Amino acid sequence: MNDNLYTVFAERFIPTDPFIRSPDGSDLHSYADLEHYASLYADRLERLGAVPGDRVMVQVEKSPFCLFLSFACLRGGFVYLPLNTAYQPEELAYFAENAEPAVVVASPEQQPVFKDFARCPVESLDTNGRGSFTEELPDSVSQSIVPRSHDDLAAILYTSGTTGKPKGAMLSHGNLASNARTLHELWGFVPGDVLLHSLPVFHVHGLFIATNVAVYNGSPLLFFEKFEARSVIEALPSATVYMGVPTNYTRMLAEAALNTEQCTNMRLFISGSAPLLTQTFREFEVRTGHTILERYGMTETGMNTSNPLVGERKPGTVGPALPNVDVRIVDDKNEPVEEGETGSLLVTGPNVFSGYWRMPDKNLEEFTDGFFKTGDLATRDEDGYISIVGRSKDLVITGGLNVYPKEVESAIDQIAGVNESAVIGIPHRDFGEAVTAVVVLDEDASVTEDDVITHLKSTLANFKVAKRVYFVDELPRNTMGKVQKNVLREEYDSGARYS
Ligand code: AMP
Repeated sequence: MNDNLYTVFAERFIPTDPFIRSPDGSDLHSYADLEHYASLYADRLERLGAVPGDRVMVQVEKSPFCLFLSFACLRGGFVYLPLNTAYQPEELAYFAENAEPAVVVASPEQQPVFKDFARCPVESLDTNGRGSFTEELPDSVSQSIVPRSHDDLAAILYTSGTTGKPKGAMLSHGNLASNARTLHELWGFVPGDVLLHSLPVFHVHGLFIATNVAVYNGSPLLFFEKFEARSVIEALPSATVYMGVPTNYTRMLAEAALNTEQCTNMRLFISGSAPLLTQTFREFEVRTGHTILERYGMTETGMNTSNPLVGERKPGTVGPALPNVDVRIVDDKNEPVEEGETGSLLVTGPNVFSGYWRMPDKNLEEFTDGFFKTGDLATRDEDGYISIVGRSKDLVITGGLNVYPKEVESAIDQIAGVNESAVIGIPHRDFGEAVTAVVVLDEDASVTEDDVITHLKSTLANFKVAKRVYFVDELPRNTMGKVQKNVLREEYDSGARYS
């Protein structure tokens, strides 16, 4: 039996069905094209010297052709290694040295950059499928699907990591197949579904969650090279499912064109990769009549928890664990915490990766009793719904007491006129760290530092109250919509502020 994820998909999709649909509604590529290109590209990688198990490093702009390349890697048994298009030469040199790819495929602009340091063929591929990678392709080949087992690697994804060097998360064919099957069922995919795809495809969300679930369903992807709120809203009547990060939802809400009528064909809006504010959840419900389904996962694990398709979707929670995923919330001594108490979130399941590429020591630290330490802090309510309270490294320890930034942020976000906030710890002479708030106000709102502090004093224990409050126009975010607290810490980490 061949456990290659490609066979799992190929058994399900119908070649004549559309795979990539342009935002204007015209079909650009069928599933037969996916087969055709995946086979040609796999053959080309082989001719460039790659053998099953080899890494294929890819840094290209989003296009149907880079999806074909990722499927070619599955098909040929190569390990797909996509890189964020924002990475700079120094970072790329590190990845190339660490992963030792057999082939690099880069955008034409980036090809010379990789050529400087890569010790393997470096080919180019542009968004029209042209470049040195595709120059010498024959019209057809009969490249077969290379046998793979569950545990064979399908991909390595470097995690964004706010400290230290990025780590390559090793994902197997079995990891990805498990998430595709589970989410397909859980989110009720049916024939006729059309997924509006506006996420990047170098990240687990756009690549393995959105794309894989849709392909497992044999659905068309209504394909956007980037997210642009107006165009996405305009295309909603031609789609049934949307997956986005919270920023996508806030940007859509900022457009008057978002309304119930525009969403009548939609059956499901899903959010993840960063916390969805309750305010966004509510506003979206009022404006569109749709309740966003929030779920939680990470590069290393794919999806772990999800609010239900049928049943209550609770704002501020990421839902219960997926059917085949086991979740534990533990204290410092690895003992389960009480319901409602905060602890470290551990997960195990067929979706969880086997470890970081070439980091055996790190891997020993990252797992305990077969559970992966996610680094997230969480609580669980009486119905088994999990809430993500923050990253353990974001925890602020002030005067020896733990403050969970999320709790303070939620209190600040209740103040009328506050749009959103981020709470960080800044070194402090007396307290070790001082709770510090960075706040974005609604347009025309006038909230002062005193207002915020007074409100916090009336709602939280004194040690949780922000010592200083700074106002900014917007919070720094990465491409997946995550607030970059490391950037804020650097910016506000001037001893002078608390000396
Ligand atoms: P990444 O590996 O880039 O997907 O980042 C994974 C991290 O994003 C998780 O460990 C969480 O800290 C965060 N995350 C993902 N989904 C959610 C969510 N729905 N709510 C809160 N945080 C989330």
